[in-house]
Amino acid sequence: MIKLKFKNNFKDQLSLESFFGDQKLDIKCPGCEHVFKLSFSDALQEGRFVPCPSCNSDIELIHDDVTKKTIADAEKAIKEFEKALKQFGK
Ligand SMILES: [Zn+2]
Repeated sequence: MIKLKFKNNFKDQLSLESFFGDQKLDIKCPGCEHVFKLSFSDALQEGRFVPCPSCNSDIELIHDDVTKKTIADAEKAIKEFEKALKQFGK
């Protein structure tokens, strides 16, 4: 018989970053229009500067309303998923 057990800190590990951290997003440089990949976990950090690999200028990550809503929805979905997992474990 296989027993499934969550780590004690499972809850802490469950985050947007752990879900999507490996995903890559396309970022377009506002200066030279070069499109490059940025990891989701980096893209989550609003206000962070990332260097454009093409023209080397710093690009500030600004979350618009659509992005904010998407992130909030994803966080809500993860919370519900977490709740479902807890009930499953009972
Ligand atoms: Zn650029």
